[in-house]
Amino acid sequence: MSSVLNRSTSMMNGGEMYFGGTAAVGGSGDGGGGGGGMTLRESLVGVIGARHLRESPTSSPLQIFVRAKKKINDIYQEIEEYVVETTLFLEGVHNDKGLIGEKDLQDFKSYSARVAGIKEVLARDHMKVAFFGRTSNGKSTVINAMMGDKILPSGIGHTTNCFLQVEGVDGNEPYFTTEGSTEKQNIKGIGQLAHALCNNRLLGDSTLVRIHWPKSRCPLLRDDVVLVDSPGIDVSVSLDDWIDKHCLDADVFVLVANSESTLMNTEKNFFHKVSEKLSKPNIFILQNRWDMAASEPEFLNEVQKQHLERTLSFLVDELKVVQGPQAEQRVFFVSAKEALQQRLNEAKGRPNNTSEFPEGFTSRYFEFQDFERKFEECISKTAVITKFEQHTQRGKTIAGEIGQNVGKLMEKAWQEREQKMQERQALWSRLDHTEKELHDVTTQMKEKICSIVEDVERRVSNALNEEIRRLSVLVDEFNEPFHPDPLVLNVYKKTLHAHVESGLGSNLRARLSSALALNIESSQAEMTNRMLALLGNERRELASTMLPRREPFEILYRLNCENLCADFQEDIEFKFSLGLVSLVQRVLGKASSRIVNHRHKENIPRSVPMTPLTPSNEPQFGLPQDDWSIISRFAVASIGSQGTMGLALALGLMFKTVGWRLIVLTGGVYGVLYAYERLTWTNKAKERVFKKQYVDHATRKLRLIVDLTSHNCSHQVQQELSGTFARLCRLVDESTSEMQRDVRSLEREVQQLEDTTSTAKKLRNKAHYLVNELDIFQQTYLSSDE
Ligand code: GDP
Repeated sequence: MSSVLNRSTSMMNGGEMYFGGTAAVGGSGDGGGGGGGMTLRESLVGVIGARHLRESPTSSPLQIFVRAKKKINDIYQEIEEYVVETTLFLEGVHNDKGLIGEKDLQDFKSYSARVAGIKEVLARDHMKVAFFGRTSNGKSTVINAMMGDKILPSGIGHTTNCFLQVEGVDGNEPYFTTEGSTEKQNIKGIGQLAHALCNNRLLGDSTLVRIHWPKSRCPLLRDDVVLVDSPGIDVSVSLDDWIDKHCLDADVFVLVANSESTLMNTEKNFFHKVSEKLSKPNIFILQNRWDMAASEPEFLNEVQKQHLERTLSFLVDELKVVQGPQAEQRVFFVSAKEALQQRLNEAKGRPNNTSEFPEGFTSRYFEFQDFERKFEECISKTAVITKFEQHTQRGKTIAGEIGQNVGKLMEKAWQEREQKMQERQALWSRLDHTEKELHDVTTQMKEKICSIVEDVERRVSNALNEEIRRLSVLVDEFNEPFHPDPLVLNVYKKTLHAHVESGLGSNLRARLSSALALNIESSQAEMTNRMLALLGNERRELASTMLPRREPFEILYRLNCENLCADFQEDIEFKFSLGLVSLVQRVLGKASSRIVNHRHKENIPRSVPMTPLTPSNEPQFGLPQDDWSIISRFAVASIGSQGTMGLALALGLMFKTVGWRLIVLTGGVYGVLYAYERLTWTNKAKERVFKKQYVDHATRKLRLIVDLTSHNCSHQVQQELSGTFARLCRLVDESTSEMQRDVRSLEREVQQLEDTTSTAKKLRNKAHYLVNELDIFQQTYLSSDE
């Protein structure tokens, strides 16, 4: 403790040595005392005055807080912009891709409010020093001295119980505001302020009056220091309220004690309460009114020693707020009254006249300035830590959390991109496979359809030929009553046409339909299966429900017998088989019929000759005029024109050679045969001849349309199969178009996800940058080395 006791003296000695170096000042701390010290005192005050001016603001310890505040505000400005940018980005991601859920987005939006709240607190943050002590110990005077101006009224401690907070304002006019009101009340002078404070009955215990003093008139205020003067702790019973209301955010407490007496219990109790609520508060103790001790210099050291011992014991042992060596830097023996006076003189530019001050003024003034310096260092460091450490941590947490979230989002977007790329790849392969397969299936199906069509054509042709060969059976089955009357015959023919047509149709159907239908259906089933296999499961099910249910396919043979055989002309006139015409025809018939047939072929189609309505009694030779060959015409013509002559000649010749009996016999047999044939030429015989002629005619005609019909049938089959295949192709085409659309949409999504990933990466890196900035801030301003 002895070293502690020497502290003040040695410090003063140091000061004396620094300023003059000539005077061997004793323990009085007054430069040797007496008038002989005037020169030294004057120079000392001059230098002290110069130090007080703090001409270079950057050299002030308070600048640490000012710079730190600016820096952290700048960082928070960046954090705020970052949060806005990130929120916009996440909103976009939420809306477009749903990579972030509604709840996560809402949670994220809370960062904006949190950052805005911190920014607001940071903007308001300042260094706060609160002055406590008993009434009239000189609290207001200390504040005035520190401010270098008479701002607070002094000596009115007993009349007002309010707290007075002095803070800087940018304007030139000072004013004050009372708690709960924003009304600015002018301060015309200290007297007026004192009067206002005393007369304001609303200012109860622990209410706050804020005095807004122009920053331009006080360097302390410029550097964001706020000073709070309290009512005397000896007159208040609501100390707990005080602490809760005014002390919890204070960076430094200054206990202004009266050096004329020892520390009172009320003062000690108050700080006990403060240190209970705040961990290790920064407490400075000013032993004020030390000028009064100068009047008894013989006890000065003794008294100082006693005060120092007790004060240090209070700080170190009782409150335990500070360690031994540091504690010595927390106790100062000063005279606020003298310091204030000195500052007022300096402000007025009056020459320093130390003679007006009691002995030891210089050392007391030096001690006061030393207090100011230590106080500034302490409040600056403390305020930086208390105000900004928490915000730095919170800033790091916010930036870190955002960075982490954005990082997760980046990972998620990247994974999604990978997944989409795989989907796109798979879709590409499927599309490629489908197109190739479609090509193969199309080729195969074309071939298959061709072979089926050829097969159908062949089968129909064979079946039709077979049916034509069996036409006589079909015609024989026709049992409608026959009559040679032309009118009846016309109806008979029509009915026969219909019978043949339907008979042929049903026979062909019976022969072909089931086999062909089976073949066609199996082909359709095969092409349907192969084509549906090219579709995705979902689409396949959809397609199978969409494929129209069709009636079973049936070939239409379209044998229009009525038209086809419209030119049929029957010949049912009686003709004697041994008649001359018949004989000639029989001889010449073969050659003639060949030519006739040939002509028939050339003449199809021809005009339709109708059955004559009235039967002719003229001898008919069984063939229509047009059908006569040149030879037969010639022969008949010869017979017709020279018949009588010829017959006479022949008979004359025979008569001569074979005799008349043979001639008569022959003539009789001939006549009997004629009579027999004539008598058996009934309707039945006519019907038989008619049907035979019809079969011959229809056979000829039907043979002509075999190719046409088979081609027509095969064409129907081709239409059916091609139609089915075309419908299936359309389905596959729709499916491939959809796949192409999906590929394009996946490509867009991949691109968007890449953009999202890259933006998220940029934002994550920015979060790292902000955390780094806060780390640097922490190292610069908050590390314990500072
Ligand atoms: P507060 O009630 O604690 O604010 O005390 P004030 O600042 O109002 O001071 C009360 C009285 O003490 C005033 O008359 C001051 O002039 C006087 N006073 C303050 N400081 C000193 C000092 O260091 N020495 C002397 N002699 N008087 C002082």
